[in-house]
Formats: sequence, C-alpha cells, structure tokens
Amino acid sequence: MATRVDDCIFCKIISNKAPSEKIYEDEYVTCIKDINPASTHHYLILPNKHIRNAKELRQQDAEIYEKICSTVNVVMQKQGLDPEATLTGFHWPPFNTVHHLHLHVISPICNMTFMNSLMFKPDSYWFVSINYVRNYLQSHS
Ligand SMILES: [Zn+2]
Ligand SMILES: [Zn+2]
Repeated sequence: MATRVDDCIFCKIISNKAPSEKIYEDEYVTCIKDINPASTHHYLILPNKHIRNAKELRQQDAEIYEKICSTVNVVMQKQGLDPEATLTGFHWPPFNTVHHLHLHVISPICNMTFMNSLMFKPDSYWFVSINYVRNYLQSHS
C-alpha cells in the first residue's frame, strides 16, 4: 500500500513515469482509463496533488475538489457519454484500492456486471457520491 508519493502509481502516471491512457489533463487534474473497466467506458479523474483519500480532503482542498467534479462533464462530452447512464463516485476508507484520491466515471450503468454494480454501489459504505464527499469536506474543515 502506497503511503508515500514516491510509491504511488497514480503520482507516477501523472508525472509520466508510468504508462497510462490519459484522456484529459490540465494543471489540476488528470483523467485516465481504468485498466479494469467495469463497463464500456470507465475513467478515473485524479487530482495532480497527492491526496490519500476522500476522507482526508480538507477545506483547503475545496478548489481542487470542485475541479475534479467539473471534469466529469468535460470527460462525458469528450467521450460522448449519456449523463443519465453514467455512474460517478469515490471509494470511502477503508475500502480503497489505490491510495491516491480518484473519482470513478463509469458508463453505461446497464453494461456493468452484477459484481461490478456491487463494488460501485452508489452511497454504500464503500462507495460514495460527489455530493456526499462535498458535504463531508464542508463539515470537516
Ligand atoms: Zn499519489
Ligand atoms: Zn478505484
């Protein structure tokens, strides 16, 4: 489990020290294809800054958090996704995979297997929505 930036696969991807398929990047965020897609389209939006998980977001991260969220629309437009059929969310600790904050964008929902729809179950103990994290961020400054 990566606890240091040096060991973090997503930090390596962001700085081009590890291979990935980037579909979008700017000074705040990077969007890559998930290597184990849960549907036809599956992307991860990463803050370029190393933040371990959604629970460690603080008030000073509010701006970058909003950049992550607004990138969903950029990605949906770029990849031609139907917003109604698209699932987004964050892992909620301790149910993390990679210990660098990432927002999952999965589409269409109807193409997900049963196992994947459990793993990415909206507003479960292990997978939470953009609004859930925003409320958490605002109440834990
Ligand atoms: Zn990282
Ligand atoms: Zn993940």
